[in-house]
Amino acid sequence: ADLDPATGEMISRRKDLLGPAYRLFYERPLHLVRGEGVWLYDPEGTGYLDAYNNVTSIGHCHPRVVEAIARQAGILATNTRYMHGAILDYAERLLATMPDALGHMMFTCTGSDANDLAVRIAQSFTGGKGIVVTETAYHGITQAVSEFSPSLGENVDLGAHVRTVPAPDSYRVTEGLAESFGASVAAAFADLKRHGIKPALFICDGIFASDGVFGDPAGFLKPAVEAARAAGALYIADEVQSGFGRTGDAMWGFQRHGVIPDLVTMGKPMGNGFPVAGVAVRPEVVEEFGRKARYFNTFGGNAVAIAAATAVLDVIEDEGLVENARVMGDYLRDGFRDLQTRYPAIGDVRGAGLFIGVEMVSDAAAKTPDAAAATAIVNGMRDENVLISGCAKAANVLKIRPPLVFKKSDADHFIAALSRVLARLS
Ligand code: PMP
Repeated sequence: ADLDPATGEMISRRKDLLGPAYRLFYERPLHLVRGEGVWLYDPEGTGYLDAYNNVTSIGHCHPRVVEAIARQAGILATNTRYMHGAILDYAERLLATMPDALGHMMFTCTGSDANDLAVRIAQSFTGGKGIVVTETAYHGITQAVSEFSPSLGENVDLGAHVRTVPAPDSYRVTEGLAESFGASVAAAFADLKRHGIKPALFICDGIFASDGVFGDPAGFLKPAVEAARAAGALYIADEVQSGFGRTGDAMWGFQRHGVIPDLVTMGKPMGNGFPVAGVAVRPEVVEEFGRKARYFNTFGGNAVAIAAATAVLDVIEDEGLVENARVMGDYLRDGFRDLQTRYPAIGDVRGAGLFIGVEMVSDAAAKTPDAAAATAIVNGMRDENVLISGCAKAANVLKIRPPLVFKKSDADHFIAALSRVLARLS
């Protein structure tokens, strides 16, 4: 793409200063200076409809969160080695949104850090090392977690203790999905055992975000979780993407499947942009770990982080955002299905609440993935000032995650832009 000189200069400064590992979104990268609600703004004041940021889930710079952070930063910002009531009140409220079995809450700063801790606890409890994940899963960036995050790419080696299973692809496996996914997990654990590796855990994202967004049929996770437990492994629900009401039917993605995890990890939208993340765990699973290993995370659960997280929970409740995610998600999917009748390149429209996947194909009958079409649409939407991205093993699925405060007028704006992009490309 032809870039204006200012963009070109900023890209080259980034390369000089931040080094080679960073990546930017879009052929024409965005320079953003401000956010408000569902909108992001560039230096010229042009607004971009944000349908991708799963962190600022209750809207950019929500005044109640901004106020809570500022207020607490002016009173006290310190760590969990001193007593503070707010962390207890928050943990109590958060745990009340989960099945009773999950009785303790531990705080970290990032989702990676939460998964790293959850895996340590699970490996300590089971005495095993073996991990089963889906084949395009992403769980984070620490050394341990990158070893079971295959979506980081071929240059990052999976651990010898890691096995992958195909994603629960509801578009292609139209019958017996739950059973076939469960059988894959069982086979992966059997393979670990054959290689002398004791099973420790099965971890999956609550909506299989990087695998291509799979939430249906509800309940399909059950046989996989049973297979993990039959192998002596624990089930970790990674709710970093799917948590905090995004799936529209409940606070947590796993609840859609009627399963109860041994550990739940969370992050991203927890503080609406302020770094706060954590692990919910069954007390019996962490009991011995807690006796043997001291846990201290300097910034995890600090008073300012808890103030942000508390304000986020208040807003989700007071603004009815779980319900809004359900209603707006259904509305958007209906709009996309309507477009599908005119554009057969849209092979499948799926997801739950405001976590939506739209799969692009070059041949609808054969369901042939079309990554080029998905990339063209993501960049075409950017040219319409609407922000989305892509996912899936074949990189052909549009990943659409609007803020939970998305209104009908925002959805109409989105659908109109997508309709123009599809018309232009076809
Ligand atoms: N788990 C999932 C499912 C994620 O999507 C991510 C982040 N994209 C992480 C974990 C890691 O979170 P963080 O970037 O906060 O370390």
